[in-house]
Amino acid sequence: MTEDILINVTPFETRVALVALGAIQELHIERSIQRGHVGNIYLGRVVRVLPGMQSAFIDIGLERAAFMHIADLRENRIERSANTNPTPIEKLLFEGQSLMVQVIKDPLGTKGARLSSQISIAGRMLVYLPHDPHIGISQKIGSEAERQALRERLQTLVPADEKGGFIVRTQAEGASDEEILADLAYLKKLWANVQAAARTLPASSMLHQDLTLAQRVLRDMVTPMTNQILVDSRSTCAELTTWAQTYTPSVSERIRHYSGERALFDTANIEDEIVRALARRVDLKSGGYLVIDQTEALTTVDVNTGGFVGGRNFDDTIFKTNLEAAQAIARQLRLRNLGGIIILDFIDMEDLEHREAVLAELKKALAHDRTRMTVNGFTQLGLVEMTRKRTRDSLAHQLCEPCPTCQSRGNVRTNRSICYEILREILREARQFNPKEFRILASQGVVDLFLEEESQHLAMLGDFVGKQISLEVSSGYTQEQYDIVLT
Ligand SMILES: [Zn+2]
Repeated sequence: MTEDILINVTPFETRVALVALGAIQELHIERSIQRGHVGNIYLGRVVRVLPGMQSAFIDIGLERAAFMHIADLRENRIERSANTNPTPIEKLLFEGQSLMVQVIKDPLGTKGARLSSQISIAGRMLVYLPHDPHIGISQKIGSEAERQALRERLQTLVPADEKGGFIVRTQAEGASDEEILADLAYLKKLWANVQAAARTLPASSMLHQDLTLAQRVLRDMVTPMTNQILVDSRSTCAELTTWAQTYTPSVSERIRHYSGERALFDTANIEDEIVRALARRVDLKSGGYLVIDQTEALTTVDVNTGGFVGGRNFDDTIFKTNLEAAQAIARQLRLRNLGGIIILDFIDMEDLEHREAVLAELKKALAHDRTRMTVNGFTQLGLVEMTRKRTRDSLAHQLCEPCPTCQSRGNVRTNRSICYEILREILREARQFNPKEFRILASQGVVDLFLEEESQHLAMLGDFVGKQISLEVSSGYTQEQYDIVLT
């Protein structure tokens, strides 16, 4: 099976689709507005040292001077770990001095960016700490024994004259020596280029920018199965090719500029698929369908047969629908990037062999997904529990916000419920205030109901409170919105 990677570039966002078997399997989106400065490395220039606060302002070429506290100074960290008396900041920094710094917190409002002079560069599996000779293992990696084994393996792979240190990320679990060595080579090359830039560029220059989505894709997503990488912007394509020639040479020949007539994401129906990937319901070819619900705690996927199933082939139809659902679920989890606990509710199957076959089909389909997962068998209630590692936000969280009409409950109160709430509210206000008239501002549907089926109730209330009640349609109001104006 071969894959294509499609990169759609616009000034406001970059979208990356992984296409295999003629269908989109994975989607990544990065919006320019969300790209901050964290991770960027600069040659800063000290503009002011503040002994009272043990901190300094440093110009890195951004609008506002950035801030560094002594605790984030490399020298201070070394002294603290050696338990010697820390040198005050005014003995370490002076105005006009140039030093290499990295942004650890983005500027916010009137506050400038926060800096550290302890540089760290993230690769795919390792984080390189050029000034800290020490190997750390991510706490998220399994057992103590696994962590120890990884540490020993890294020690054999790192050259003996290495002065820096590394943190091993969870992605290194199960990685081959070749993959780790490739990541080491990438990090060393990047660091060499940062140092070279620091020697030649003037103060307040950027030495390294944290990778863009497209660059991360070239570094992390390309496999021997990748057939081609299509980029629909000529300039980005050229930039990526140059970048790949330096950092991921095996990838560079596969990058191509797409100049077709149709928009890149209209090929393979990607735009339509993205819209469908936000819907609750996913239709299956067999006539069945999935209902996917994402809550804070977990995601549930409910498998349904389409319409009436009866007669001799009852078991067979259900089995086939579940098999198709297993494949569709695997693809949807990946496309929607759903993480955490996931509960799958297949249609009930009596036959144990059928159950086993559906589970096997699910595991086979999930094998294409590079995200870490666990799949448990059927529970007593006939559900399949699984987990998928949470990485970035799910597609729905990235592209959608809670529905203002229903507050994401998925349904709104009926017009009649709103009518009755308005009647109760008028009753309440009539006890408290003594206006000449009540005016109801509400949606078209609510006003229509008051004019017809509920007109008697409204008239009765008017008599009861002894006031005039008038109606007015507010076209901008949602079904649940209304106002009662006292005049
Ligand atoms: Zn809603």
